[in-house]
Amino acid sequence: MPNKLKQIMISASLLLFFGSLTAAGINLLFMPAKIPKQLPTVTLEGRSYVALEEMNTLLHTMTRVEYSEYNDHRIYLWYNGQQFIFVTNSPYYNFGEGVFNMHFPFLQEGEEYYLPETFIFQSLPLHFPKEIALKNGVLQIPRPVDKGVKRIVLDPGHGGKDPGAVGKNGTREKDINLNVSLLLKSMLEKELGVEVLMTRSDDRFISLSGRTRFAMDNKADLFVSLHTNASRGRSARGLETYYLSTSSTSDSRAVEALENDVVELYEGAEAKKAYDALDFILSDMSQTEFLEYSNELATLVQRNLVSGIQGPDRGVKQASFYVLRGAFMPAILIEMGFISNLSEEALLANQEYQERLARTIFEGIKRFKYSYDRVRKIS
Ligand SMILES: [Zn+2]
Repeated sequence: MPNKLKQIMISASLLLFFGSLTAAGINLLFMPAKIPKQLPTVTLEGRSYVALEEMNTLLHTMTRVEYSEYNDHRIYLWYNGQQFIFVTNSPYYNFGEGVFNMHFPFLQEGEEYYLPETFIFQSLPLHFPKEIALKNGVLQIPRPVDKGVKRIVLDPGHGGKDPGAVGKNGTREKDINLNVSLLLKSMLEKELGVEVLMTRSDDRFISLSGRTRFAMDNKADLFVSLHTNASRGRSARGLETYYLSTSSTSDSRAVEALENDVVELYEGAEAKKAYDALDFILSDMSQTEFLEYSNELATLVQRNLVSGIQGPDRGVKQASFYVLRGAFMPAILIEMGFISNLSEEALLANQEYQERLARTIFEGIKRFKYSYDRVRKIS
């Protein structure tokens, strides 16, 4: 087995070498452009393959690999807002509700993953008949859209008839949330050059679903909800940042069902039983391309908050906040401190402290934008 693997590795590297010499590739025409671009191909196991990395660069697809010690790896790929699921060494993949066959297996060589060119030529036009067409050997495909961070929705929690948490000295959460949001807005606009929209810029009530709907309707690239915490125990204090968990949504069940279908389809019922027996964890994060980024955004904001404010670090957490559901963009909810704690209430009510909060959140968002834009922005 190791010998065979070695052989495959050697022949693969030779093929890669010759592949680059012959400069084979798939011609892509980004509409309405006139000059085709080339997606390089390599020959693996006697067939034409496209490196996932190259595809991501050119088509701005996004991928995430889920490693498994026991099984082949699973690869999630997003294109045009839709999700594909591949399994290494299998020609089958999931798309929407169905299982499809691209005739040649998804391969891994070393650190790199490869899709058979049949996926590009046959599967893409099949799944996106309106957008993608194969004409005279040239794949006509829409120009990828710029998905860098350009528009941010800030969501000051509560408002109007809903004061949020109220401190012992009468400080209202809704006011703190709004003040910090307004300060943050001006920093983001002036220093980062992004457009900032607010779910509310005064003291008014907005439903939770109305807040994410606002972000969706305005095609926001990020959604940041600002809150202050409260606890019965008056000693609780500190900062925490949340992003969404989707463990209870119907799509996670759907993906699980599809995963079992794939196993049964190409490995048989016995293999399916074996998989069922294993503690095979389907990570929640895999279901949307944004959860991973939400986690990154939450981590950067939390880190900057804690170091900038010098407040107790309660960490980055995952929870199924209703206000974060339905936000198909990186989305976080920040708890800027406990209004129920006397000393934190005093801090939160302080104008200078509010400015520091805004500044440190700003730094976190700025860092996120820089790293996010590197992969998402079209240059
Ligand atoms: Zn709140």
